[in-house]
Amino acid sequence: MATKSHTPLIVGNWKMNPATLGKARKLFLDVRKEVGRKKMETQVAVAPPFPFLSELQRLSPSQRIGLSAQDVYFESIGAHTGEVSLPMLRSVGVSSVIVGHSERRAAGESDEEIYKDVQAIFKSSLTAIVCVGEQVRDQHGNYFSVVEAQLRSAVRDVPKTKLKQLVVAYEPVWAIGTGDHATPEDVQEMKLFIQKIIADVFDRSAIKKVRVLYGGSVKAKNAQELLTVGTVDGFLIGGASLKAKEFGKIVHTAEAYAKTSV
Ligand code: PEP
Repeated sequence: MATKSHTPLIVGNWKMNPATLGKARKLFLDVRKEVGRKKMETQVAVAPPFPFLSELQRLSPSQRIGLSAQDVYFESIGAHTGEVSLPMLRSVGVSSVIVGHSERRAAGESDEEIYKDVQAIFKSSLTAIVCVGEQVRDQHGNYFSVVEAQLRSAVRDVPKTKLKQLVVAYEPVWAIGTGDHATPEDVQEMKLFIQKIIADVFDRSAIKKVRVLYGGSVKAKNAQELLTVGTVDGFLIGGASLKAKEFGKIVHTAEAYAKTSV
């Protein structure tokens, strides 16, 4: 029997989709239907574009499907045109924030900004889903140092008392949206590496508090192996989160795994 130490977490990153509020409502209601009403161990969240958050909060008053934000700005108020703050996100029901997604990094977000975002998220008692991952998997294992540098920079100074609010998502950039996911064995290796860094930055007990997710071309057909062999605590899902049935299947795979593991 597999061992599981954390509550599984499945987060759907809708990115800049769908095109309209009406379509977002429909997708959310379809996801809600696929996830179902049965009590589950697995936590489920979706990260829609900012303009849809408040309407989706209305559709999920019990927060059975939690709301996540795709990004945040670390300042709380003021002259920051185009930015969105944590108090704003909290006021529309957001409970977790994706930080340092590779598409934000590609748009110029620096390690220092990610650090500031993480600090602000912890101060406001939300959960930070910190994305780390290499651009390419080279022959010499340099991807480990890429992930290590990103992770150490983002989580330095996180108070030990807040570690339950820290989630790390290993998202190799080459696997995002390509249909080419990391092998379950490589995912497991990276998960253990991430835990080693977490233990080094904090202490060994931190491993029990910090969840490690995998993201990169997760589909219903590869989810089970990525959980059982990859031993991650859940997924950050892009493309497949826009298909309610596919997303629902991944959620139920995680739930079945949570029930069979101890
Ligand atoms: C993502 O963008 O976080 C992601 C994992 O995308 P996809 O599932 O489409 O690879």
